[in-house]
Amino acid sequence: MKLPFVLARRFVAGESLDTALPVVDELLGDGLYVTLDLLGEHVTNRARAEAFTQQYIGLVQRLARNRRGRDANISIKLSMIGQVIDHDFCVANLRRLLKVARETHTFVRLDMEGSDLTQSTLDVFEDVYPDYRDHVGVVLQAYLHRTEEDVKRMCDLQARVRLCKGAYSEPAHLAHQDMEAIREHFRRYMQMLLLHGRYPGIATHDDELINATKAFTTEAAIDANDFEFQMLYGLRAETQRAIVAEGYNMRVYVPYGTEWVPYFARRLRERKENVGFLVKNLFRK
Ligand SMILES: Cc1cc2nc3c(=O)[nH]c(=O)nc-3n(C[C@H](O)[C@H](O)[C@H](O)COP(=O)(O)OP(=O)(O)OC[C@H]3O[C@@H](n4cnc5c(N)ncnc54)[C@H](O)[C@@H]3O)c2cc1C
Repeated sequence: MKLPFVLARRFVAGESLDTALPVVDELLGDGLYVTLDLLGEHVTNRARAEAFTQQYIGLVQRLARNRRGRDANISIKLSMIGQVIDHDFCVANLRRLLKVARETHTFVRLDMEGSDLTQSTLDVFEDVYPDYRDHVGVVLQAYLHRTEEDVKRMCDLQARVRLCKGAYSEPAHLAHQDMEAIREHFRRYMQMLLLHGRYPGIATHDDELINATKAFTTEAAIDANDFEFQMLYGLRAETQRAIVAEGYNMRVYVPYGTEWVPYFARRLRERKENVGFLVKNLFRK
């Protein structure tokens, strides 16, 4: 059964790039930065993985033409371009995309998916990173027990990291389950990345962590232009703008595309009040 898009429109900018670009323009006009995400995951067919790679390339080119010099980049899922098919195939697809990203002076963030893909995501990243240091970055999830070592490694490489809590259901032997423990680790990695990493993205809607980041950067005299906050489209829009008004960088993650159901389900699982917005949207004319 195909669910109607009206369900998701609070969190997803549109089912096509044409409907998503006006949203991007509005956000850029309000002084926010943007990262565009073409929705989809777990592609097991080579032709489809190549088609998605081509779509990403088209997206980077279109963004470069449209963004009028302002800061818009893209986020991708490696599982859409061959990660679950073959390592070398995925690396080759990513290299095709990064070549265009370099030519158009943009940046590609490799989203992090479930723990079954963590190591292979970092392996693919390390394969391409030496050739594209300014054009590719990763995501690390504070809930995984392994993340401290990954944070250290990315600091050693001076790779750009987005830090988030983690959005997938993971077992206790791999990930912290308790929110306070996740926050504690997030704070620790945030500090490590700010002190020793390169332009980290602090991705959270959690006031405790946002305030901890502001306090830490003030105390450690870290310039507001040496990092950015990141939030998802459709969540805390006023807070996003308030943070920009305070002088910080804020990047909004803007998903679009027809394959929005898994992304949408993760947002609903995270917060009960998102279900309330869903019900309102459903009945709005
Ligand atoms: C830009 C971005 C990129 C991401 N990329 C990835 C990725 O690649 N891989 C991955 O696994 N996960 C990713 N995530 C998701 C992330 O891992 C979390 O699942 C998600 O952000 C929820 O955690 P949180 O810290 O934002 O707040 P939550 O844990 O959902 O909420 C904690 C507290 O924050 C406050 N809060 C949260 N939302 C609101 C709201 N709407 N209004 C008011 N207060 C609120 C409340 O006080 C709440 O109790 C990304 C998140 C962002 C923002």
